[in-house]
Amino acid sequence: MKTLTDLSADKMKTDVETDDGTIKLYIVGIGPGSYDMLTVRAINVLEQCDTIVGYQVYTQLIEDYFKGKRYLTTPMRQEAQRCRLAIEEALKERRVAVISSGDAGIYGMAGLMYEVLDEMKTDEGASKIKLEVIAGVTAANGGAAYLGAPLMHDFAIISLSDILTPWELIEKRLTACASADMGIALYNPSSKKRQDYLQKACDILLNVISDTTICGIVENIDREDTSVKVCTLGELRQQSVNMFTTVYIGNSTTKIINGKMVTPRGYINSFNVTYGRAANQYRNVAENE
Ligand code: SAH
Repeated sequence: MKTLTDLSADKMKTDVETDDGTIKLYIVGIGPGSYDMLTVRAINVLEQCDTIVGYQVYTQLIEDYFKGKRYLTTPMRQEAQRCRLAIEEALKERRVAVISSGDAGIYGMAGLMYEVLDEMKTDEGASKIKLEVIAGVTAANGGAAYLGAPLMHDFAIISLSDILTPWELIEKRLTACASADMGIALYNPSSKKRQDYLQKACDILLNVISDTTICGIVENIDREDTSVKVCTLGELRQQSVNMFTTVYIGNSTTKIINGKMVTPRGYINSFNVTYGRAANQYRNVAENE
C-alpha cells in the first residue's frame, strides 16, 4: 500500500527532467505576493528552473526567494512576446518557468501560453514543448481570508478591465450575477485611466441590489501594507481604490460578524439551533434520498 509520502510524490508534477523527448515549460502561479502563499509545488518547480520569465513587478517579488536564476522580463502589454521568449528559451534547453501573480489560469499567462504555443506548432522544436500549469492562490481567496468568509456561497470573479473585454459585456455580467444573488469578487477595479470604473460598476449593481449589501475591500493582499475594509455597497461607491485591490460584493445574506464579512453557507438556517437536531435532520434527508 502506498504511504502518504508516496502519494504526494506521485502527485508532484515538478520533475523538470523528461525521458520521452519532450521539453517541459512551466506556467507557475506565485500567489498574491508573499513566500508563504506560494504552494510547495510552485516552490519545487521554481527551485528546479534556471530561467524565470515574467512581468517585472512579479519577478521582483520572488527574486529574493529564488536566487541565482536568470530573470527575463517584458513590459506590460507584451504578454505574447513574453510567451514567445519563454518558448525560445525552453528550446535552448533552459529549464523555464513563466510566472503569473495569483493563479496563472485566472487572468494570468496560462491561456495565452497555450495559444501562442499552438500558433508556433509548425515551428521546428515547438511541438516538443509540453506545458505544465502549477496552480496558485488567486487574489479572490487570498483576500477573502483577510475579510473573514465572504465567498462561502456561489460567487463569480469579474474583471472591470475593458482593455480586452468590451465594457457592455462587463455590465451584462455584473447585472446577471447581481440578479442571481451571487457574491462577486472584482478584479482590476481601477487604474490610472479608469479611476471611475468602480463607481460605474456600483451604479450598475445598485440598479439590482440594495445599497446596504455588505462589501469588502482588500488592498495589497500579502504584500507590504495590506489593508482591509468592510462597508456597504452605498459606501463602496464613494471609495477610491487602486489596481492592487480586490473588491468583494456580498449576496443578500452576507453579514458582519465581529467586524468580519461573512456569507452564510446556510448551515444554521437549515439545521436549526442544536447540533443534535441537525444530525437528526441530516439523517431524515439521507433516508428520504
Ligand atoms: N492572476 C491573478 C489576477 C490578475 S488580474 C490572480 O489569480 O490573482 C489583476 C487583479 O487581481 C488586480 O487588479 C487586483 O484586482 C487583483 N490582485 C492581484 N493581486 C492582488 C493583491 N496582491 N492584492 C489585491 N488584489 C490583487
